[in-house]
Amino acid sequence: MEETLQYTPVKPDKLSSSWTIIHVLKITTTRACWMQCRFCDFSHFVPLVGNNPVKPLALLNLVQTDPRLDGPYDLVKIRGGLSFFEPWSYFRSAIRHIHTRNPAPIQALSAVELMHFHRVEKKPFQELLEELRWAGASSLGPGGSELLWDEWRQDVAPLRLSAKEWLRIHQLAESCGLQSRASLMVFPGITGRHVHDHLAVLKQLRGLSVIEIKPFRPTPLFTVDHPHTLDLLAVVQLIRQELPHVLIEINIDHISHDMRDLLRGHGVSRALVTQEEMDA
Ligand code: SF4
Repeated sequence: MEETLQYTPVKPDKLSSSWTIIHVLKITTTRACWMQCRFCDFSHFVPLVGNNPVKPLALLNLVQTDPRLDGPYDLVKIRGGLSFFEPWSYFRSAIRHIHTRNPAPIQALSAVELMHFHRVEKKPFQELLEELRWAGASSLGPGGSELLWDEWRQDVAPLRLSAKEWLRIHQLAESCGLQSRASLMVFPGITGRHVHDHLAVLKQLRGLSVIEIKPFRPTPLFTVDHPHTLDLLAVVQLIRQELPHVLIEINIDHISHDMRDLLRGHGVSRALVTQEEMDA
């Protein structure tokens, strides 16, 4: 495997022309997180209680009363930072309410959040996953799989779970009937070796059907800038070559129309559009 990424030019008549638009309702549980991942804008300490009163999470109220939950969506994503203020049962109930109000498939929480509740409440992973399934989730979010390469993870997110732990939780999720979803963060300096090793971990999931690539952010962060377009397309080519049965998706909210055409032409087949975002 080459260290550098190699883009292979594609003739215009070989470019693909269609993709599926997925309308997403994103529900953010909290915009604060103690874990300090350097690529995340939720990464600031949760304020202290006592002299610094904390606004309680309003997730349960929100999911019972907000009219947006009656809208037509293809996917509901529930994600957020890590909070010590609400127990696991609070989030489980909120997911259950969402499920009773909207028929769309629910992608709920991630391996990182499950690790948090496993550590804080000492609940076995199997139990957490079965309860997530019972509450109405159909898949576990890809959080924690940005790049399954422990050296990189130690550098940018040292408090998170290891690549091996992420894989173990997703394998268990599959055995509990939850679909696995993975991501791949494409950043300047990513190499062919990074992508190859990342995909080698993902190949150990029997039911993986979707990888979300994450190259763009509305505002660049300190550690994560936009990658070169040819590197991004080379990553798409590598995924298609190594995991041809897996669909590639991208959030197109902040992507120009030219870039959308390029990505679609190279085989990114699912375009996520977030028209509504609900914050607890
Ligand atoms: S664990 Fe997730 S929400 Fe928390 S800082 Fe890291 S990426 Fe952000």
